[in-house]
Amino acid sequence: MRVIRGYKFKLKTTPELQRAFATMAGHARFVWNKALRLNLDRLERKAPIMWYSDLCGLLRLWKQSEEYGFLAEAHSQVLQQKLKDLDRAFADTFDKNQPLKKQPRFKKKGRDDSFRFPQGVKIDNRRVCLPKIGWVGFFKSQEVPGTIKQATVTREADGWYVSFQVEIELPDPVSHTESMIGLDRGVDVFAATSEGELVTPVNALKNALDKLARLQRKLARQKKFSENWRKTRNRIAKLHQKIARTRHDFLHKLSSKISKSHAVVALEDLPVGNMTRSAKGTLENPGRNVRAKSGLNRAILDQGWSMFERMLEYKLNEHGGKVVPVPAPGTSHTCSACGHTDPESRTSRNLFRCVKCGHTEHADVNAAKVILQRAKVKLAA
Ligand SMILES: [Zn+2]
Repeated sequence: MRVIRGYKFKLKTTPELQRAFATMAGHARFVWNKALRLNLDRLERKAPIMWYSDLCGLLRLWKQSEEYGFLAEAHSQVLQQKLKDLDRAFADTFDKNQPLKKQPRFKKKGRDDSFRFPQGVKIDNRRVCLPKIGWVGFFKSQEVPGTIKQATVTREADGWYVSFQVEIELPDPVSHTESMIGLDRGVDVFAATSEGELVTPVNALKNALDKLARLQRKLARQKKFSENWRKTRNRIAKLHQKIARTRHDFLHKLSSKISKSHAVVALEDLPVGNMTRSAKGTLENPGRNVRAKSGLNRAILDQGWSMFERMLEYKLNEHGGKVVPVPAPGTSHTCSACGHTDPESRTSRNLFRCVKCGHTEHADVNAAKVILQRAKVKLAA
């Protein structure tokens, strides 16, 4: 079977390279924003929007024009990839199955700096050759196996990174286990399992979240745009980066552990947009929800959940297992012992006590068991 994996490394830059990256990212952002503006104007006039092939035709004209001729400095495929992303973003917006997808947004300088090469990237030991830029060294923390399908260069708080998407050929998997497990997204924990385990995030993540809440309170008190305000804002950006990495690491370890010992993982089938509803305000506009530390924790874990689902899915696939999504309604109000459903049974945030049979259990563990039972019913059907 063929699988796609991602590998990310920090690039070794010089001022000259940083300028080249900023130019490439800037031109790509310019093309995205210009095409987005054009389509929003068309929507306003009730005209059909322009899709990828039309936009590529326009891009050719822009590059030949006096006004936008500077775009020729960028690699053409990099610009086309942004148009492809925009095409996809609009398709998602109009997709009736994804009602929560929002209209694409304008990209901001410094915040959304990234560009992608769909081909033509080579690696030679500790260097990567990027089209139109040339050889760039990177901090190689592990080998990159397989064939490089694409490479993305992204600006983060502490510098530029390259991520490679590679295709690897693996032997077809045979699952060595028939074990099934149900997982519930907990209220206070990251997840609860049908085996009774409560999974909490690692301490490093908790500490970083506490620190983030403190820094955000500090930022809210400081004079906007002052030297100290800028310093605090910079520290917050670096901390966000650290939190994202710690969370990523935590999710990788957890999903590896689960996918190695279980063939089927049952999860609630929730639309992704639903789960991140609380995250939008807090993460994108820190400051607005400064005091709600628990809200912030929740938001950061919620944002991790869909990533966790994707990791579980591909890891299970590689081991010959699978994720089984089950209908979500009522899982938290159903008794895992007798099957009786009653909101009254959820006596408190964390406690489930069945009003019919008296079965008592941690509410999230009970829900995880119900999720597992629903998966068994689904698989037997
Ligand atoms: Zn019961």
